Amino acid sequence: MSLFSATGLVKSFHSLRATDNVDISVNANEVHALIGPNGAGKSTLVNLISGLLPVDAGLITLDGQDITRLKAHERVHAGLSRCFQVTNLFKEISVIDNLRLAIQAHEGNNFKVFGVRNHEAALNEKARALGAKVGIEGESVLNSMAGSLPHGAQRQLDIALALAANPKVLLLDEPMAGMGPDESARVVELIKGLRQHMAILLIEHDMEAVFQLADRISVLVYGKVITSGTVDQIRNDPKVQEVYLGS
Ligand code: ADP
Ligand code: MG
Repeated sequence: MSLFSATGLVKSFHSLRATDNVDISVNANEVHALIGPNGAGKSTLVNLISGLLPVDAGLITLDGQDITRLKAHERVHAGLSRCFQVTNLFKEISVIDNLRLAIQAHEGNNFKVFGVRNHEAALNEKARALGAKVGIEGESVLNSMAGSLPHGAQRQLDIALALAANPKVLLLDEPMAGMGPDESARVVELIKGLRQHMAILLIEHDMEAVFQLADRISVLVYGKVITSGTVDQIRNDPKVQEVYLGS
């Protein structure tokens, strides 16, 4: 059984079926990429999976648990984290404070057993370790205001915030959007490292990045998965070339 699976997902907006009976699964240590043209229903699917939108029909399971009706924060607690494309950052406070807040949000009052001084030290250490996981390190970077970081580094920080919950499954919605080639290459390497520890569902427009990262690719068009396969299968699939790559 897959670590994560969504089966028969349906979501309509009035008469439009934005998600039309979609099945998608992700195994441990796998990157499953979801591609498709604008309006295909990718963001809707991410919102259904992360719990921002209720499904009309379908089943979502994580590690054997039915999470279909759980609220978004309950899904995070169950092991499903999502990146929010930078909008999740507190831009007016420092990078280290963003990291500290993310850790506190997930650890609740666990630090209380230590006393204030140890609490501070332990929290700082965890915040630094979390930043280092995504390549955000060094005093000057950690003490900068989050909003002053280059776009690519803000994305890396956003991924770190999602990792604070120790997810089993990470949902990445266009992590390379708006990045230059150097920044994209850095995030590709970052995702390769993350895959050692979790399952990743990657929604991405940057085909270079998808071809480098994906173990499996599913192609979504008008709310339906029209085909799924390995990088080579998808690259050579005439249906895909017609609807997506050729456009
Ligand atoms: P993608 O992310 O692949 O570009 P979306 O999931 O954003 O696609 O959109 C899929 C379709 O659903 C589009 O036709 C879009 O206009 C429509 N849609 C998305 N969200 C809503 C909404 N809240 N209300 C009405 N229509 C929506
Ligand atoms: Mg979208």
